[in-house]
Amino acid sequence: MPVVGTFPTLRSEIAGVKVVDLAQQFGTPTYVYDAASIVERINDLKQFDVIRFAQKACSNIAILNLCRQNGVVVDAVSGGEIHRAQKAGYKPGNVEHPEIVYTADVFDRDTLDLVVKLKIPVNCGSPDMIDQLGEKAPGSSITLRINPGFGHGHSQKTNTGGEQSKHGIWHEQLDDCVARAAKAQIKITGIHMHIGSGTDLHHLSQVCGSMEKVVEKIGASVDTISAGGGLPIPYNTKQSYVDLDQYFQLWDASRKRLEAKLGHKITLEIEPGRYLVAESGYLVSEVRTVKKMGNNTFYLLDAGFNNLARPILYGSYHPMSLAPVSGATNLPEQDVVVGGPLCESGDIFTQEEGGFVCTRKLPQAKVGDYLVLERAGAYGFVMASNYNSKPLAAEVLIQNGKPHLIRARQTFEDITRGEVIPS
Ligand SMILES: *Cc1c(COP(=O)(O)O)cnc(C)c1O
Repeated sequence: MPVVGTFPTLRSEIAGVKVVDLAQQFGTPTYVYDAASIVERINDLKQFDVIRFAQKACSNIAILNLCRQNGVVVDAVSGGEIHRAQKAGYKPGNVEHPEIVYTADVFDRDTLDLVVKLKIPVNCGSPDMIDQLGEKAPGSSITLRINPGFGHGHSQKTNTGGEQSKHGIWHEQLDDCVARAAKAQIKITGIHMHIGSGTDLHHLSQVCGSMEKVVEKIGASVDTISAGGGLPIPYNTKQSYVDLDQYFQLWDASRKRLEAKLGHKITLEIEPGRYLVAESGYLVSEVRTVKKMGNNTFYLLDAGFNNLARPILYGSYHPMSLAPVSGATNLPEQDVVVGGPLCESGDIFTQEEGGFVCTRKLPQAKVGDYLVLERAGAYGFVMASNYNSKPLAAEVLIQNGKPHLIRARQTFEDITRGEVIPS
């Protein structure tokens, strides 16, 4: 299990490259990813038969390609993500351990056509999807995403099980799904449960029990079970990793009991998003003003919630560090509020759930210093927007000490592309 480590508030480099050099070469704000960190996290999970990256966490095709080169397959939750996976070299098709699986609670019409055309296996999150697929592609095989009736998440918005969640097929509707599948000559070959981000081992044993019941009910057609995602990573010293050995043991024991009952081999998949990429990502920004509001000191950056939305969406905590242009290695700290450039008062990185502004102890900054928002690789860039007509940031991947531009910063022309003034 990885160690939580420390969270220094001064930083001079990322993966061996000076922050100042990165900022000067690529501009700010820029997302920087450390390839070695992603590979390390992949290797943590090698006990599982299949590691399926939930690409929605960080879907740049260079990141997907890195995953592919390290034996990881992908999950796609939209037609756009299927397109990305193909661009990164993944092959569509319904084979053993498929490289691309489509998981969702609905098909939009275009994506239904796309999965049928490319024969991409579907992990159905609603009974209607079975009928819709059956109409266009009778005889296919599917997996079912089951909502076991309870969930777990680090916030209400990331809880993906229980009655309040829109995700998956309600566990009591299984018979109905089996009937629908039979009618469309669709084979149910796998069961999937993903109950939310921040899984702990107590919840997990409940999930495993629920999984076994569901698989026994479906019977011999099942050859794959998926543990879903939700593996936590620590964003501060109070948080921790889950014990991966115990996590695997619980699932492996369920798998073995099911193999004994069904009399054939069952593939055990895991489907992490955050775990593989969160720690690899750094949002490098520049401090553009240091100003006082009564007793509060504000550092305002050139990055805002248009670049990193987790604090405003969930009150999420991201570690931060200052990379002073002076190269200073010792600076006095002060309590500061850190915010972005957007014309919206909620554009604050130091906020708690509910939008309450708080402060962070950070080294004294000067305008022109760089501020790094850390552990921003998961649900960072992928949630970025053009709000306030801000161009999307650049993305850079550091591999073997060398930074590579993997996404060019948007231009103003990119921002108005497709807009038309009627004549
Ligand atoms: C989002 C998602 C995941 C990954 O969740 P993490 O908490 O990032 O690990 C896995 N599976 C499905 C179906 C998802 O929607």
